[in-house]
This record gives sequence, structure tokens and C-alpha cells, in this order.
Amino acid sequence: MKKTIFILCSILLSVSCQSIAKASSDNEGQAKYIFYFIGDGMGVNQVNATEIYLGQVEGKYGTSPLCFASFPYTALVTTHSASSGVTDSAASGTALATGQKTKNDVLGLDATLTQPVNSIAWMAKQEGMAVGVTTTVTTDHATPAAFYAHTKSRGDKDIIRKQRAESGYDFILGAPDDGSLPYRLDRKPGELSQADIVRMAIDSLYHVNPNGFFLMSEGGMIDYACHSNDAGAMIGEMLDFDDAIKVAYKFYEQHPDETLIVITADHETGSLVLTHGRYETHIDRLQHQKMTIKQLGKSLDALRKSQGENFGWEQAKEFLKENFGLGGALHLSKDQESRLQTAFTHTINGTGKSQKTLYQEDNEFCVCVRTIMQEQAHIAFAYTCHSAGYVPCFAIGVGAELFHGRIDNTDIPKKIIKAAGWKN
Ligand SMILES: [Zn+2]
Repeated sequence: MKKTIFILCSILLSVSCQSIAKASSDNEGQAKYIFYFIGDGMGVNQVNATEIYLGQVEGKYGTSPLCFASFPYTALVTTHSASSGVTDSAASGTALATGQKTKNDVLGLDATLTQPVNSIAWMAKQEGMAVGVTTTVTTDHATPAAFYAHTKSRGDKDIIRKQRAESGYDFILGAPDDGSLPYRLDRKPGELSQADIVRMAIDSLYHVNPNGFFLMSEGGMIDYACHSNDAGAMIGEMLDFDDAIKVAYKFYEQHPDETLIVITADHETGSLVLTHGRYETHIDRLQHQKMTIKQLGKSLDALRKSQGENFGWEQAKEFLKENFGLGGALHLSKDQESRLQTAFTHTINGTGKSQKTLYQEDNEFCVCVRTIMQEQAHIAFAYTCHSAGYVPCFAIGVGAELFHGRIDNTDIPKKIIKAAGWKN
């Protein structure tokens, strides 16, 4: 079934590719329905890793394309901010929303921090379009906030929330403030995904104004997974991001002459490397990871609480086999097993060293499982912060031909303005 969907998707896309390739730039200024997807932390290797994963799950050495990465126009995007070669999400969000560089930590102000700069969401509103801003993290987080807020620090939550309420946008949806949506790997039936949010946004925006809308939708937890160096969670979030874009693609198929879909990222996170020092990858092995490393920590705490002394190394081994494939579908070397056992013992007896990254703290055992999953998959994260690497941009639809070559993140909103034909 899964395979059939992918084949169908490829056929549909090849048809679209041909017709789009013939489209001339006469189409500029006709984009009535604009989708702007931002994969937070999604560098080129995050895309490539996911496509290798899909290919290997199908038994190939090569890649199977994500839906959005098959769109006919592609660009490489530079992401530096006005204060650093490595941007944060506030400065890159501002660049992607307004076309202006600013300093790290700043939202919706120019690099002097004195002039407010308007976002394309605001411009869309002035043009009479319905406007939506959505994310899988909180809507006061840096990327969504860049589309409505103007403040010197992304940490000014009270100011940001006030400006969010005053934005007048028609549809704003994400995780509850101070909360987060579950990762794809940990999601229970009935819990919201980005695809659900995009579906709700389209229904709402099209109802508000059938003559035009602008929707920015962020896949915010690709970044969280990469900050936490959780490779399995990262693949899950990438697949979720693609699923959300498939919802927009379906809308595009119904309105091909009036719709533009642009996908990009604010920066790369984690310095993802697609090798572990040898000429091989086994990213498909991450399919055996059934929960995030964050959830592993929570589950182990719960098991220790409920089973007390009865929860020892043998029980932990069984848990790893079931939920990560380790020692089951995935062979553990003697060295790996002994490292896991040592980390487990340290964690249980309270001598373990935990590791704090931006969005979570993992105990020694969780860090060890995370590292061994990377060894199994033959991939690695060099760091737990953002990097200066290129991010990709993909586009399909009216004006998509504007998105090609080597561009800067500030060029993207300017190209969207051109595709939409706004005068601002
Ligand atoms: Zn980040």
C-alpha cells in the first residue's frame, strides 16, 4: 500500500514537472493561494537522509524521493544573520518573513534594531488575503513569531503574545503556549499532526476568503530532534513534514494555475553527517526505533517506579529489543552491549552523567542508546546546535520558476511577493 502511494506520487509529480517546466514567467503575479513551508533545522542532509531511509526501507542503495523534494524548482539557500555566520531561528525567521537580515535573537526589526520590518503575512493581509500561521511547536516560538512580531528578543514572550493577538490573522494554530505537540514517533491516535493542522488551515482560510490566502506552516520539531541528536525522531519529523506538504499538494492539483508552494528551512541543526566513518549507511535501521529518546527516558522512569528493584538490566534489554530493535533485529556488538549495560547501571545507581541539550536533558543510558542507534544507522551529528550549512528550497506552481540557483534566505519572500504580484 505504502509502495503504491509512492509510485502514484511519483507519477503525479512527473506529470506536474513536465507541465511546470513549460510554464513561462508570464505566470508571475498570479499566485492566489500561497503555501510557505519552513522545516526548522532542515538542512540538505536532513532531506537526503530521509530519502536514503525511504530507499533503503524499499531495499535499494539509492534514494526514494520525498514528495516535496521532487518539486520541479530547487535552490540552495545561504542563511547567515546580520550578527553571525550561524543564524538562530529569530534572525532567519525574520529573513524568511520580511526579506531583511537582522541580528540573532531579534524578531521583525532591521539590523539596527530600530526599524520594524513587515512580513509577507502582514502584506498578504493588506492585499485582502486570508492569512494563516501554523507550527508544530508553540505559535510564540521564533519562526511563527517572525511573521507577526517586532521585538528585540525572541524571549520577550509577553510582547510576542500581545502582538500575536493584535495581528488580525485569520488562522493561528500550534502547540499550546509552554507545551508541545508529540513527535511523530510518540504520537497517539487522535493527537494532532502538521498534516491535520494544514488541512484545518486550508478549510478555514478558503472559507474566510475563497479568492486568496497565504499560509505559513512550520515543521518545528525537526529542529528539536536534531538539537537532541535523535536520528530516529528526526526521520519521523521529516516524514511528517512531507505528509503536511502532500495536503497542500492535493490543493495545488485542484487549483494548479493559482497556487504556489514554497518549501525551505531556516537553518541546518546538528551538523548531520551521512556516514559513521565508513563507505556505508544503514539509515533504514532507524525503522526499528518505535519511540523518541525523550520518551525512552520517560518510559524507563515509569518502569522503574512501577517495578522498583525488579526492573534490572535483563528487563531493560528486553525493552530495547522491543522498542529500538537493539539485540533483536539489530545486532549488538559485545562492546555496544557492555557500553549499554554500564550506562544503565550508572543511571540506575545515580552516578550517571546526564546531557543537557537545548530542548531536553537525557540520562547517561538514553545518551548511550542515542549514540548506538547512530552507529547502527552509520550516521552522526557533529554537534547539538545550528550550523552554517546551505538549506534547500523547493517550489511548485505559479511563479515557482523564480526559485532556482544559489539564493539568500532574504530573496525568498521577495520572490513570493513577485509571484503574488503585490506592489509593497
Ligand atoms: Zn534550533
